[in-house]
Amino acid sequence: MEHEEILHRCFRCGYCKLPGNYVDVNCPSYLAFRFETYAPGGRMWLLRAWLDGKVSASARFADILFSCATCGNCVAHCAFPEFKDRLLLVFTAGKEAFLDEGIAPPPVRDLLTKNQIHGNAYGKPARQRTSWSEGTDIPLFSDQEYALFADDVTAYDPRGQEIARSVARLLQQAGVDFGVLAGDFRSDGNDVRALGETALFEDLAAHNIKEMNRLGVQKILTLSPHSLNAMKNDYPGQGGKQQVFHYTQALAFAMKNLKFKTGLPEIRVTFHDPCYLGRHNADYESGRMILRAVPGVKLVEMDRNRKNALCCGGGGGNFFTDLLSGGDDTPARVRVREAAATGASLLAVACPMCAVMLEDAVKTENLENLLAVREVSELVMDASCL
Ligand code: SF4
Ligand code: SF4
Repeated sequence: MEHEEILHRCFRCGYCKLPGNYVDVNCPSYLAFRFETYAPGGRMWLLRAWLDGKVSASARFADILFSCATCGNCVAHCAFPEFKDRLLLVFTAGKEAFLDEGIAPPPVRDLLTKNQIHGNAYGKPARQRTSWSEGTDIPLFSDQEYALFADDVTAYDPRGQEIARSVARLLQQAGVDFGVLAGDFRSDGNDVRALGETALFEDLAAHNIKEMNRLGVQKILTLSPHSLNAMKNDYPGQGGKQQVFHYTQALAFAMKNLKFKTGLPEIRVTFHDPCYLGRHNADYESGRMILRAVPGVKLVEMDRNRKNALCCGGGGGNFFTDLLSGGDDTPARVRVREAAATGASLLAVACPMCAVMLEDAVKTENLENLLAVREVSELVMDASCL
């Protein structure tokens, strides 16, 4: 197994499952199950025991491995600089080794099969990827500066489609020169890669890169931080040459072009850092810049923010496989309780997966009268003269 030489270097000291204040629990899978095997250090030791022949691969072992939300908290907080950057790589290698042996939780197998056969997590035709923009005046990509890529959630999930329309209308209003990518596009592959299905990721990436090259795309805007991560960090290894930005990174600088309503009341807003925009891509400010530019918005921070933010639990395929669900302390439920404790009435998110995960959690926690989840673009739209 790749990277196995670092397994014995983990002391299971446990810093990796905490945020910077060493008080809360910040590893989503450990938070949900409270067994050490679900913590990063526990996973390290479990993999080591497996390679040493002391434990066998099993369905339960697979559940533990594949429930990692790939949030990157362990990479940010492991005490050992010599190998901390390789923690996620070793977990991915472990999943890859399990897949090679034919062992994976059934929802993971289903997700990978849909991606294999249909090129997306929903099992829908590629031609429907742009159906969210049909019947609107949102332009398709031809020769604009940016090509807007819709990930699987914004392309096929009804809530994601609302977010896609909101982002696109706002970008239009702010004067950003873009068109929606239409063509034979597939999933960005971020979750597929995180689940250890490397060959399938390479196929998806190669296919999308070829299609982007055919259309002459030079700059991509993504709706999802997960797409940003795959296309910016992993596509170059597959031949991708496009520059890649999350839409908030373009909008932050175009906010000056928007007109807002007058007399808006003050509203307390807290921002949830998406793991794949924040920890994975070191952008903690674009979303906050946008929110600060909205009249009436008073930005308040949750105790865990930026590098210490608690993941919603949707990464690493968990949005689709739901391996972290069930208990009172799912990461999304803990996160909305934390948001409500700030006194904010709005929880702003900048990722379609976070939006769906946290909206569900608000309902489960019966917080609907106190806290609403809004995607950043929707919050701006509500205040603008559109
Ligand atoms: S902080 Fe690093 S060394 Fe300590 S348990 Fe976590 S992975 Fe192992
Ligand atoms: S990436 Fe996140 S969920 Fe996975 S082991 Fe590290 S802290 Fe836990």
